Amino acid sequence: MTATANNEQSAKTNNSASHGTLLIVVAIAAAIGFAYIAPKWAMHFDLGGQIFLRLLQMVVVPLVMASVMSGILGLGDVRKLGRPGGYAILYYFSTTILAVLTGLIIVNVFDPGVGIDPDIVRERQEAEREHVEQTTEEIKKEADNQEVTLGLIFKKLVLMLFTDNLLGSMVEVNLLPLIVFSIIFAGMLTTMGDRADTIATLVLSINDALMSFIMLLMKVAPIGIFCLVTSRFGKAKAEGTVGELASVLAGYMGTVLTGLAFHSLVTLPLLLYIFTRRNPYRFLLQMGQAVLTAFSTASSTATLPVTMECAEMQAGVSRRSTEFVLPLGATINMDGTALYEAAAAIFIANAYSAVDPTFDLTFVDQMTIAITATLAAVGAAGIPEAGLITLLIVLNAVGLPLPLVGLILPVDWLLDRFRTAVNAFGDSVGAAIVDRSFPNDAAATKS
Ligand code: ASP
Repeated sequence: MTATANNEQSAKTNNSASHGTLLIVVAIAAAIGFAYIAPKWAMHFDLGGQIFLRLLQMVVVPLVMASVMSGILGLGDVRKLGRPGGYAILYYFSTTILAVLTGLIIVNVFDPGVGIDPDIVRERQEAEREHVEQTTEEIKKEADNQEVTLGLIFKKLVLMLFTDNLLGSMVEVNLLPLIVFSIIFAGMLTTMGDRADTIATLVLSINDALMSFIMLLMKVAPIGIFCLVTSRFGKAKAEGTVGELASVLAGYMGTVLTGLAFHSLVTLPLLLYIFTRRNPYRFLLQMGQAVLTAFSTASSTATLPVTMECAEMQAGVSRRSTEFVLPLGATINMDGTALYEAAAAIFIANAYSAVDPTFDLTFVDQMTIAITATLAAVGAAGIPEAGLITLLIVLNAVGLPLPLVGLILPVDWLLDRFRTAVNAFGDSVGAAIVDRSFPNDAAATKS
């Protein structure tokens, strides 16, 4: 292709990216407006939303397996994954830690929850006691009734990589063991020479077919997203839960949103610029459809197909990077969730001090929160409000009563959307940065 043709192609792609993003923005604005005016009617759109969500979810497992395998097949040798793999893990951990630190600093500056009415805290704690006790029992049972310590959390995280039942992991959409299996399996294929040709071609074709399926899905995305958003906002308006506690939780929400905005508009763009010299805000626009889909579905896993499509087709990240970095990122790299867990834990601690003035959050406690929030974000599943469950681990680590999560519950569904959007954006920035560390000959084989 000549340089002019290349430029025309990229201008066309950018135009279609902004056109698609604009349509989704309009759909979300219309959905919120409609939910506000006619909440009962809006709730009837739930069916359309669920259909769209399921269409996205049904491609996730085959897509992750086919794309990771075709990524390895493209590299031609699993050992070539070493360097980019190392960079990807380094990226995930350093950005998660930066997100936690941002959360900690912002929550300490704004101090939400200080001076809160103790009656509200007690009331919310009681309201959620039964529900939270049930969840805690489940977590304990999963931990074989052992005390939940840092060592145990770490052991659980490592074990999450492996499965004793591959089909079971597919059924439960447990992506990590599927990724591990796909890397090993495709690695084996690369050592088998001609005998693996048929299966390798099959994997590559399945991957291409699934990508075309996603491109088709993106055409109906504005309708699906309208339905998803209007039904959820309609439900919230009809229940009146947000309004009721809005003033009490305004400080907390403002803190989390400011932190998320800082991480996604300053920290991540800066990293992207430093490592790739790309214009980060143009990149954000190119990833717009994925970010907005994450906002609408509140699930990084369900958004993964769209993130992969946008990163490759619109932001021009090479396939070899999106196929490997994004599926892994969708499961373990959750900057938004990490930031929120740190901020939420401190907010809850501040609110608890209003009930029990002897409770004091020391510097060591804050560090414990930082570490457990990082691990909790890695362990959180890419599904709606998974962060709320892993937040219990953070609260437990500093001795806060778990039913206090009841305090933030009414607005969690809303904050979840923002943190999921940041999670998806963080993954795509990672794919763009790690892209540069793939060996050059692999680029020739694939993309
Ligand atoms: N909903 C988030 C995600 O899917 C996880 C969470 O923070 O609850 O990325």
